[in-house]
Amino acid sequence: TPLSQIRNFSIIAHIDHGKSTLADRLIQSCGALTAREMKDQILDNMELEQERGITIKAQTVRLTYPAKDGKTYILNLMDTPGHVDFAYEVSRSLAACEGSILVVDASQGVEAQTLANVYQAIDANHEIVPVLNKVDLPAADVERVRAQIEEVVGIPADDAVEVSAKTGLNIEGVLEALVTRLPPPEGNAEAPLQALLVDSWYDPYLGVIILVRIKEGTLRRGDKIRMMQAGSTYHVDQVGVFLPKMTPVDSLGPGEMGYINAAIKTVADVAVGDTVTLDRTPAAQPLAGFKPSIPVVWCGLFPIDADDFEKLRDSLGKLRLNDASFHFEAETSAALGFGFRCGFLGLLHLEIIQERLSREFNLDLIATAPSVVYKMHMTDGTQEDLHNPADMPDLAKIEKIEEPWIKATILVQDEYLGSVLTLCSERRGIQMDLTYVGNRAMAVYRLPLNEVVFDFYDRLKSLTRGYASFDYQMDGYEESDLVRISILVNQEPVDALAFVAHRTVAETRGRAICSKLKDLIPRQLFKIAIQASIGSRIIARETLGALSKDVTAKCYGGDISRKRKLLEKQKEGKKRMRQFGKVEIPQSAFLAALKMD
Ligand code: GDP
Ligand code: MG
Repeated sequence: TPLSQIRNFSIIAHIDHGKSTLADRLIQSCGALTAREMKDQILDNMELEQERGITIKAQTVRLTYPAKDGKTYILNLMDTPGHVDFAYEVSRSLAACEGSILVVDASQGVEAQTLANVYQAIDANHEIVPVLNKVDLPAADVERVRAQIEEVVGIPADDAVEVSAKTGLNIEGVLEALVTRLPPPEGNAEAPLQALLVDSWYDPYLGVIILVRIKEGTLRRGDKIRMMQAGSTYHVDQVGVFLPKMTPVDSLGPGEMGYINAAIKTVADVAVGDTVTLDRTPAAQPLAGFKPSIPVVWCGLFPIDADDFEKLRDSLGKLRLNDASFHFEAETSAALGFGFRCGFLGLLHLEIIQERLSREFNLDLIATAPSVVYKMHMTDGTQEDLHNPADMPDLAKIEKIEEPWIKATILVQDEYLGSVLTLCSERRGIQMDLTYVGNRAMAVYRLPLNEVVFDFYDRLKSLTRGYASFDYQMDGYEESDLVRISILVNQEPVDALAFVAHRTVAETRGRAICSKLKDLIPRQLFKIAIQASIGSRIIARETLGALSKDVTAKCYGGDISRKRKLLEKQKEGKKRMRQFGKVEIPQSAFLAALKMD
């Protein structure tokens, strides 16, 4: 296929605006799958993704489209994740394409991630085709949303394509727009190979698979490839494309996207963003890659059953193969034993990994409070990154601490604006801008990330009945008056519950956690003090009264089997507990304790 008949594009949208539905329609109308093969939402194929309605990993599909001009085009579609935590994955999908379809729900209008995604697409030099989706809905207001796209997003929307991805209305309009409005890729089939390593994952049968976008040159089965930055070389066993099933081909030329299977064993060798070239005739320069993703939220994961430690290591390794943005390193906790300190792109990313570990790998885990990365400047002149509040040295040894800030964009109906502004200022936010998009307010705030990681989304959603949209980007580090708050249960510090907070909120948070723990920790046979402290100073205290009666006491005598059942149930419950000195703390307490209301 000549380059002039190839188009590479991404679909970008705010969550729920119909990106996956549109992608499925495009696949269906290009006949890539028969109706029978066409499962709902092919691109969101991870079970968890389907349930949560989000796209976690970027996927790619090659479509064949006979256009109105009589020529047949190859359309490579890269799906992109819709959640802010995965902004990094969006940027690398965009780097592999020349253009984007911007899907906007015509009944909702422009939202926070619409803006964030467009800015990324503009950064990637994309041609953008606006698509107004859900025109079948009575609430659709095409003219209003068209105006919003022009005014707020700042791109022309005169020839926005009006569609209903659900009913299939005007899908051809989208396909024609792709062909006529997006630029074809450029590149020379005879040049030395330069292929951008866009993604990699682990296939249980084939091993590590890498997804590439060929920029220059040609890649053939049997070639010996070299990773330009990693320096490693491999023999290419298979080259292929996604139709959307993996389908081997003989070669991939410039402008094409496809996969390589080369018996790569370790994911460390396949840094996403690296350039793949040929070993014998290498390119002079690697491509401009993208910045590596940096985990911004860390927490400890510990097996409930200490015997699961190796299984946990193994499972984390497997997850990492499919998710280069996820990091982990071994950690020991006085309270929780052997486990791992894990880094995530955000709180949703953390929840997803946790859920996958429990569902796919059958692991029962305790997660410690999420923490951001603080920069500590020590009095001896050294600098350290703090990933774990439990590791914070004595304040006397610290000259100053810096914490990460974000710039957040929130769109919300006027009636909820008051509570959103209150929430932001409670979280030490600084208002940067407040404007209107139609009847909605758009507030731009700078916020410390540490105030956002625990429960900001949840609070925002409940305050606005789910109507607010939110997006953020990292916005540098700033010095701050931070302290470490320790939690003591029965006089024993529980390192896994330690957290860092601004001095002004330390006492309130400490008190809230103690009172939560009082409800979360089951009564024991003795009285327990639950305390919060900064250094040796106690800032909050609750007392959990003693339990008086044995659970089996009420089935005295008679029913032995009922008694046994109760005891067994109690034993089952114990497995989900952790022993701290003489006290058992249920797993659920660890995260729940840190959610603030
Ligand atoms: P994504 O989060 O952007 O991938 O959005 P989805 O494709 O998962 O769609 C979100 C919801 O909107 C789903 O319930 C879809 O069925 C629905 N939806 C998508 N497109 C349309 C449309 O054109 N009309 C209507 N009425 N609903 C749609
Ligand atoms: Mg989706």
